[in-house]
Amino acid sequence: MAENSTQIDGNILIAKTLAHSGVTHMFGVVGIPVTSVATRAVSEGIRFIAFHNEQSAGYAASSYGYLTGKPGILLTVSGPGCVHGLAGLSNAAINTWPMVLISGSSDQRDSGKGDFQELDQMSAVKPFSKFSAKPTSISEVPVSILRVLNRAVSGRPGGCYLDLPTDVLHQTVSAAEADDLISKAEELVRKEQEESDSDKLMPNSEVEQAVSALRGAQRPLIVYGKGAAYARAEDELKKFVESTGIPFLPTPMGKGLISDTHELAATAARSLAIGQCDVVLVVGARLNWLLHFGEPPKWAKDVKFILVDVCKEEIELRKPYLGLVGDAKKVVGLINNVIKDDPFCLGRNHPWVEAISKKAKDNVSRMEVQLAKDVVPFNFFTPLRIIRDAILGVGSPAPVLVSEGANTMDVGRAVLLQTEPRTRLDAGTWGTMGVGLGYCIAAAVACPERLVVAVEGDSGFGFSAMEVETVVRYQLPVIVIVFNNNGVYGGDRRSPEEVTGPHRDDPAPTSFVPEAKYHVLIEAFGGKGYLVKNPDELKSALDESFAAKKPAVINVIIDPYAGAESGRMQHKN
Ligand code: ADP
Repeated sequence: MAENSTQIDGNILIAKTLAHSGVTHMFGVVGIPVTSVATRAVSEGIRFIAFHNEQSAGYAASSYGYLTGKPGILLTVSGPGCVHGLAGLSNAAINTWPMVLISGSSDQRDSGKGDFQELDQMSAVKPFSKFSAKPTSISEVPVSILRVLNRAVSGRPGGCYLDLPTDVLHQTVSAAEADDLISKAEELVRKEQEESDSDKLMPNSEVEQAVSALRGAQRPLIVYGKGAAYARAEDELKKFVESTGIPFLPTPMGKGLISDTHELAATAARSLAIGQCDVVLVVGARLNWLLHFGEPPKWAKDVKFILVDVCKEEIELRKPYLGLVGDAKKVVGLINNVIKDDPFCLGRNHPWVEAISKKAKDNVSRMEVQLAKDVVPFNFFTPLRIIRDAILGVGSPAPVLVSEGANTMDVGRAVLLQTEPRTRLDAGTWGTMGVGLGYCIAAAVACPERLVVAVEGDSGFGFSAMEVETVVRYQLPVIVIVFNNNGVYGGDRRSPEEVTGPHRDDPAPTSFVPEAKYHVLIEAFGGKGYLVKNPDELKSALDESFAAKKPAVINVIIDPYAGAESGRMQHKN
């Protein structure tokens, strides 16, 4: 315990304020001037996960925010470290996940002179930061930290930025002054939050209007997304679906809030559900490209959208029939309360429910025929079926699935089942590749009760493959399954007339070294590697690695011509 008169510097004050605010994990890459911030944070009881590259650490911090509901913290050095950290910050912004990027910055006294790693970082982060703070002296450190942490989670979650000038890190205050600064900052930020909360009561009439539209619908549907998952709205959504009998459609990361195996799941009848529904309750999901903008021809012209979103601007942008601004868990709870007073339920024999259920069953049976075949050399279906069964075999708590790649993610979305909330992390709103290893590491520390299984293409894996060393160093229960089809989309798909010019003998821009030994990479660090080419080898690698719960890479050799170029996104390429 420090004496009250003991002097502490900016590094210690930052660590103390973070720990005091409930921060338990940080991700990052240390160096000038923030190494001491990290070591002091560890002394304060915070687990610091040290990465090789800020991009992966940032992806980890953003997904940690999604999984825990607390801001994920990314620590970087100044200049280039901050620039690399923008990958994570932008990922938090686009997916609306809470995160704080903390970067060291050059000495304020040398500003504009071309100092070491000098950059106007406050301007650089602007497009992706909800709120940024730069303490200009040590006395402003606690309030700056509390504000960024608070703003990252309040309203629509997102990324915030904290700039730490080198000179502020070296200033000192007494331990007594530090305690005083922290408690005054807490009081101030609490008041600021109370003021911004004051206008948030939703009129009951809006909820009643939503229920009455759903009650009057012939073909109602509920769609929910990762905003509902973030809000932990699973119990309320399940109650809504089961009391009304309305079919549901999760977005990719909404999968698992209600089990994919539920009889009212419309996932396998997606086109029918969205093409023919007349009233849709959309909870925590944007009507963006992933939901075809809510427009024809995928949706009917006169479909009535009822949007539930914590962000008023999002609702205004979409001009829905009705918008309910608020937290998904609370709003769906209010909807359930109104329904309870005057219940309605479609029932299994309702023509709409029957139509969805029949279509879903037909489509599932058709896919099962594909899945049942043992195709060697592997296509995408055979290994995905084996992996699906292995994951389901784990039971509860279900593993977190991390999924990225073109065909690997597209086919995997249909084949792999989610039975529990927040157990799927994928390329998300931007379709970002290279998120996999960062997400695996975040999931392992955020959900220590769960195994983490990544199913990713060789291209996605390659973005941050060096982070397998991080997985081994911290002995995390992460199994990375690499679908190795020799490159981006697999194989050289160029027509002969495209293969011209002086560099025509170079490998195609889409190709990597054939049958690369990715499993050997992890063995360099003491992890376990498997090379598999057929169902028996894959089953045995999964049995062994799932039981061991230790870092492993399973290198699955896939026929390079099995997938499609751009996966299911050819129309955008
Ligand atoms: P998906 O990719 O699953 O379709 P999106 O990322 O497009 O989901 O949409 C998530 C939406 O959820 C965002 O518009 C965001 O504002 C909203 N959101 C975030 N947190 C909450 C919450 N607690 N309650 C309701 N909506 C939320």
